[in-house]
Amino acid sequence: MTKLYGAIEAGGTKFICAVADENLNIVERVSIPTTVPEETMNDVFKFFEKHEVQAIGIASFGPIDVNRKSSTYGYITNTPKPGWKNYNFLGEMKKRFDVPYAWTTDVNGAAYGELKKGAALGKDSCVYLTVGTGIGGGVVINGKVIEGYGHPEIGHIIMRRHPDDKYEGKCPFHHDCLEGLAAGPAIEARQGGVKAYDIPKDDKAWKIVAYYLAQACVDLTLTLSPEKIIFGGGVSKQEQLFPMIRESFKKQMNDYVPTPDLDDYIVHVELGDDAGITGCFLLAMEAE
Ligand code: ADP
Ligand code: ZN
Repeated sequence: MTKLYGAIEAGGTKFICAVADENLNIVERVSIPTTVPEETMNDVFKFFEKHEVQAIGIASFGPIDVNRKSSTYGYITNTPKPGWKNYNFLGEMKKRFDVPYAWTTDVNGAAYGELKKGAALGKDSCVYLTVGTGIGGGVVINGKVIEGYGHPEIGHIIMRRHPDDKYEGKCPFHHDCLEGLAAGPAIEARQGGVKAYDIPKDDKAWKIVAYYLAQACVDLTLTLSPEKIIFGGGVSKQEQLFPMIRESFKKQMNDYVPTPDLDDYIVHVELGDDAGITGCFLLAMEAE
């Protein structure tokens, strides 16, 4: 009999639930709007009642508790999303479906998918950064997603300011962290509210964004030494950013540590919207 696996990519706007066989052939996939847990999770439970799966991989928006020693392991913790703060996501799943689980962040899931099937195929390590409404980062090193006391929050690393950037930053916690300076809403606020996709491709605004994203790549290279840094999310659709990030990376790193050829090192996501769900399936298979 074919073995089936479950995957949940839990995002702030929608949940993707899917079931696939061990070759990742999708049996069924649904998209459920993220409203309140009573509604959204009810649809999630109904979906998995239809399929007998061996294991389920969950990659969730956060922050989440990934610390197995913690009494709130498996919870979504401090989110401003109404109803989801301190929600025992993993516990509610386990109550209904007694199977092994993988539980990690949305971006760790995507990083794992990209490592096994996407832009970092054949590598043992990568960082995945999504640059959209916020900035999130997932990390896989030696084939394992990185979790410690908590999970990485790469979007909030502190930045050295671009000398020409007078924008104060949008993060309510740190003002001018990476997310506060380079996520979509920050890019738009710096330009006085112009939509990011309406900013001309040769506008100086992109140079400033590239400077911060490059700085993040420098910091990640110096701390983690990954084999690839992969960008996804709405802002990364601005393809002109990639040569600018590489050029700025080269300047800021100043040849201090060797890296792969920058065209192969700082790259666009390959699996696109499927990165997370792919990672969930693969993590589920490993949890079995
Ligand atoms: P989310 O982060 O909500 O999952 P996205 O990754 O699409 O979704 O991020 C949305 C943000 O990305 C918006 O703030 C918008 O400014 C920006 N964005 C979306 N599409 C583009 C685009 N094509 N070019 C530049 N910025 C974009
Ligand atoms: Zn911040």
